[in-house]
Amino acid sequence: MGERIISTTHKLFSSLVEEVSECYSCEEMAYVHVLGSVCGPLDAHLLIVGEAPGRLGSAKTGIPFRGDRSSYRLDALLEFAGIDRSEVFVTNAVLCNPLRCFGDHVRNRTPRARELAACDSFFRRTLDLVQAPIVVALGAIALRALNQIERHDIDRVSIEAGRPRPWAGRTLIPLVHPSPRTQGLRSWAEQRLDWASVGELVRQQPLEFKVNNSKDLLK
Ligand code: SF4
Repeated sequence: MGERIISTTHKLFSSLVEEVSECYSCEEMAYVHVLGSVCGPLDAHLLIVGEAPGRLGSAKTGIPFRGDRSSYRLDALLEFAGIDRSEVFVTNAVLCNPLRCFGDHVRNRTPRARELAACDSFFRRTLDLVQAPIVVALGAIALRALNQIERHDIDRVSIEAGRPRPWAGRTLIPLVHPSPRTQGLRSWAEQRLDWASVGELVRQQPLEFKVNNSKDLLK
């Protein structure tokens, strides 16, 4: 049997994923617990934070931003920016799918403040483990979750979209959520330009980042 290299970071992440899978703290949720290796590499240069798993997307596929219209749009934006999704870590402010019932119909809803607070420790621990130097927040809920960790004073993502700023020793870039509903906030052309800037920033990151960040892989 070949040598087994066990990473402390990976072990901590596995424990976190296990804990998350046993959490039922919130109500009116589909308990899909979307967190795991499907989110991306722990040594990613870029961390993308969304709102919550969507009913027709990651709540079905088990992969953040995969399977619904927002996901297809995000993939198109990443491709335009020259960013390889397999090198990005993607997660959400809350890890289960917030739902609202209308008679026989069920719809997604925006996560409530108490749900953001309930999922905060999981989010915080994920960010501790994924030390990506660039963090992209997709929409107001993602920004609110990041603000719980460290204040950033970004009020309106539609105004500040695409403007990087220092945050918690990293670079934070607020962007509008790729949902088709945000077209009114920022046009598709503007969103493409925003993402092109993110791509440039990612390419400027020193290659050593991965080496340094992976030191504990050999512990
Ligand atoms: S959203 Fe987070 S806190 Fe709420 S039940 Fe799911 S894992 Fe637990």
